[in-house]
Amino acid sequence: MFDDLSDLYQQVILDHCKKPRNFHELSGATRSAQGHNPLCGDQLKLFLAMDGEVIKDISFVGSGCCISKASASLLTEAVKGKTRAEVQKIFEQVHEMVTTGRVVGDVGKLAVFAGVHKFPARVKCAILAWHAVMAALQGEGQPVSTENDET
Ligand code: ZN
Repeated sequence: MFDDLSDLYQQVILDHCKKPRNFHELSGATRSAQGHNPLCGDQLKLFLAMDGEVIKDISFVGSGCCISKASASLLTEAVKGKTRAEVQKIFEQVHEMVTTGRVVGDVGKLAVFAGVHKFPARVKCAILAWHAVMAALQGEGQPVSTENDET
């Protein structure tokens, strides 16, 4: 389905899609946010347990396409233990990557999403979880939505 993505990248995405990491509700969550991508039907909810400015623990639940699930799964691994400012920076790197294909700095495994920019319809799938985590970090502990058309 993604002929232009390298085999390795496809494998990482498929692995995280089939076996999403941190895929459960988080009982000690202090913040949460929902993300909804109506174009594809992806829905997910992130749970964050903050310790001051640091994300102590993070998890997600939801359903959607392989890209959106893999992206959320890799996100939880990438931001655990990071500060709000660090997550903001990673968000900007991921946003640049999925919209232009340009990899800025060391993004680790998240580089698997650089090829997504060739598939405009998939960009929103890949960035959904990132919008949700930013919403969770910016909110005041109340559930928020990245989309307003959830009716
Ligand atoms: Zn999707």
